[in-house]
Amino acid sequence: MKVNTLKKLMIILVSAFIALAFVVAEVNADDIPTIINKHEDAMKVFKKAKESLRSKLGMVFHRPFEIKLVTGKEMDKITKASPYHKNIIGLHRYRKGVNYIYMLDDVGKDRFYGTMCHEMTHGWQDENCPGQTRILREGLARWVEVKALQWSGAHTLARQIHRTADPIYGVGYKFILKVEDKYGEKGVLPYVLKLKDINRNF
Ligand SMILES: [Zn+2]
Repeated sequence: MKVNTLKKLMIILVSAFIALAFVVAEVNADDIPTIINKHEDAMKVFKKAKESLRSKLGMVFHRPFEIKLVTGKEMDKITKASPYHKNIIGLHRYRKGVNYIYMLDDVGKDRFYGTMCHEMTHGWQDENCPGQTRILREGLARWVEVKALQWSGAHTLARQIHRTADPIYGVGYKFILKVEDKYGEKGVLPYVLKLKDINRNF
């Protein structure tokens, strides 16, 4: 092999390696830090959630969202009336045309992402099927949360939430699982849209 040919071959190999490195970087370009404690990072998670909810479930939002990152102390104050007080990572409130999502800061990105998808589901429910029972609302939101964690590869956390029993979240979630068994992942939202409560004889 001539020196020139060897040189050309080296250039081709190096270029191919650089191209491949760029492709790998692109695939891993999540750009979300492990712990969320900045508003801009919370917004990255929100954008990721919005895109996955749209592409995987056809969940589309027309009302604007405002994401507020709050400390544990602030969250405790906002949620002190709730029976789940001190265990709340996210909270959705709809007020005058705007979806407000309060998210606890210093939370790991997987849990933050799952919770964000959960709270956004409440925004979708207020827009598309208001007046449903709490058990149906929380059941669907938990189902979306578990799905989101599975999509992003957080299987341990997904299993943890999947197993958590609760008279509202757990029972509602089990009902949605039955709906998914019957109608498939993409069939859940169109079916739930028509309901007012869970169907205990489903
Ligand atoms: Zn909820």
